[in-house]
Amino acid sequence: MSVIRALHSQLLAKERSAEEIAREYLERLTQLEPQLKSFITITEELALQQARAVDARIRAGEAIGPLAGIPLAVKDNLCTQGIRTTCASRMLEGFIPPYESTVTARLAAAGMVTVGKTNLDEFAMGSSTENSAFQRTANPWDLTRVPGGSSGGSAAAVAADQAVVALGSDTGGSIRQPAAFCGVVGLKPTYGLVSRYGLVAFASSLDQVGPFGRTVEDVALLLQGIAGHDPMDSTSLKVRIPDYSQALIPEIKGFKIGVIRELLGEGCGEETRAAVQAAIQHLQELGAEILEIDCPSFRYGLATYYIIAPSEASANLARYDGVKYGLREPADSLLSMYGKTRAHGFGPEVKRRIMIGTYALSSGYYDAYYLKAQKVRTLIKQDFLRAFEKVDVLVSPTTPTPAFKIGEREDPLSMYLCDLMTIPVNLAGLPGLSLPCGFADGLPIGLQIVGNALQESKVLRVAYAYEQSTDWHRQRPPLEKPKESAPAQPKAKSKSGKGSKKSKG
Ligand code: GLN
Repeated sequence: MSVIRALHSQLLAKERSAEEIAREYLERLTQLEPQLKSFITITEELALQQARAVDARIRAGEAIGPLAGIPLAVKDNLCTQGIRTTCASRMLEGFIPPYESTVTARLAAAGMVTVGKTNLDEFAMGSSTENSAFQRTANPWDLTRVPGGSSGGSAAAVAADQAVVALGSDTGGSIRQPAAFCGVVGLKPTYGLVSRYGLVAFASSLDQVGPFGRTVEDVALLLQGIAGHDPMDSTSLKVRIPDYSQALIPEIKGFKIGVIRELLGEGCGEETRAAVQAAIQHLQELGAEILEIDCPSFRYGLATYYIIAPSEASANLARYDGVKYGLREPADSLLSMYGKTRAHGFGPEVKRRIMIGTYALSSGYYDAYYLKAQKVRTLIKQDFLRAFEKVDVLVSPTTPTPAFKIGEREDPLSMYLCDLMTIPVNLAGLPGLSLPCGFADGLPIGLQIVGNALQESKVLRVAYAYEQSTDWHRQRPPLEKPKESAPAQPKAKSKSGKGSKKSKG
């Protein structure tokens, strides 16, 4: 059973109050924070107030939805009214948004309990959360390693039970990659399915908000809470939102699953390949038909992304000029105020992106770089479209290797390589999910499942069938044990022996 369902039934049975649950999570969160540093801001007062409101509704005999009273962590690039939103940047260190993002507003209305704002790479640029201007988050499985990024704080918080579920954003892999590194489930929805209103923009044609959870069902339930049209986001899709729980059927007989050949070859670590191949075999044993699929343009994915994303970033980040938001360095002229503010406000990776993007968009280089990248983006999209004529979903590793050591990847290019397998999915605007599929030396490995546009239900179904017949999601990081009363483990006691079959490998 998902953590959300377990807590929901305890609330309904009045075994525990939402306030008790909130206090327990806040206590554990605070206790683990010195080791993990997942959070930039802890919102204890808000959490308790939201929890008490849920308790009042339960006492009054009102019906509550599944998300009510559930502790939530929010990536610190989602605007929260009255609560500082830093993007892990000095530029926004003191920024208190005057408005609330649509996703957090919806979840608050559903009764969720926000425990805090999580650490990230500055402006979501990075793959290790080391680019945060404030702190480094540790991987709960090995404190000397990175949690992935850029949503590293959200992934670590969920892996360590500092929150039940979390929100992240994914522009090139920032939900799926940290989910893989931290051994949790993370989903990047179809571009436009979830509102970006109040998400601080990085690369607007790629950015998408999505859920983290310990199980596929947790992720499906949180997705349900955030998906849907929003008039405040012009790229938001007007589509009917299905009931994602209906997709959670542990049965995929006859499903056609494509294995992306290009992503299991060069660049993929040995242990990762072995774990993913075992997972593919497992899917076959569950009755899926496995096909090998060629996506020849994927080899240009990284190069394409690292033109398009910085180009959009250079435009989006022009707004941080010392006038409109956040930091302002005093100076004797307007020009030097701009210069000083941006020199002090942005870290090295953000500056690098602004420079790459400005260069790629500049006259004389635009055609050679930006325009060309847009054309290759179309080719990558076509690879996917061709594939989905033959298969229901595609699978690959989420990342080439498991979590690396803090400080190990100083060269930006080696960091960019982390996104090799996730980036094509963003370029094509498709849904992609990562879920645990094994371990190498105690470090989690992630399996990526990709669907055609708006096929989240299919992706969730394949993920659910895999999860329910394996045990990877029940492994816990070697942090000190949560207290007896904590709702931590979704035990194997669930009905009909689900999840009892151990996966091999
Ligand atoms: N690691 C990628 C980058 O640095 C992706 C980041 C993201 O998805 N926000 O651009």
